[in-house]
Amino acid sequence: MPVMNLLLFGPPGVGKGTQGERFSSATGISHLAMGDILRAAVRDETGAGKQARVYMDAGKLVPDALVVSMIEDHLVEGANAGFLLDGFPRNVAQAKALEIMLAHHDLTLDKIVFMDAPESHLIKRLSGRLICRACGFGFHRHYSPPRETGRCDRCGGELYQREDDREDVIVHRLRVYNEQTEPLLAYYRDKAGFVRLDASGEMQAVYTALKEAVEG
Ligand code: AMP
Repeated sequence: MPVMNLLLFGPPGVGKGTQGERFSSATGISHLAMGDILRAAVRDETGAGKQARVYMDAGKLVPDALVVSMIEDHLVEGANAGFLLDGFPRNVAQAKALEIMLAHHDLTLDKIVFMDAPESHLIKRLSGRLICRACGFGFHRHYSPPRETGRCDRCGGELYQREDDREDVIVHRLRVYNEQTEPLLAYYRDKAGFVRLDASGEMQAVYTALKEAVEG
């Protein structure tokens, strides 16, 4: 496959991380997941991580200046293999900053994929989600449970529930999405390479649709 730069966006819990990870492992393109980059900074207690943590735990967006400066290095590093952006941009101001960054580095987006699913699906997916503390791999209590309760199938690490996957925070994250991120749809809808994907089905079906959308 030729080197491609992709953007995945959509509500929390729609499967951007799961599908993005799978797609990048299969194709070798870099998976640039803003949430993962931020969680790594929080874990490593960097200056940016300390600032970001309060917002993340409350389900709020981290200030634009902080995330924009964090993503740029990754974008430039990822550009050789191609990249898949997931979780950035999350509002129109970030989308505009991304456009400037891409132009500055002579990069373009080949596909812009909007993933969507009904809110009831999103709540079920988010509230059952479990993440490995060691390798970051994701499981779900009901849809893809680990073989051994509380342990990662891949590395044996401890599984935990993200602080922001608690039900009260989920409700807040969905509100933030509707108010701040959903307007990205109007921003990207008429751009070249825009595709809308129904992400309410099974993981495999969504992956097949994603591959077709990107390669088509
Ligand atoms: P995610 O793993 O994509 O669900 O992101 C987890 C949390 O990280 C979000 O709820 C925000 O607090 C923060 N975050 C991730 N991406 C961004 C972004 N582009 N802008 C601001 N905050 C973000």
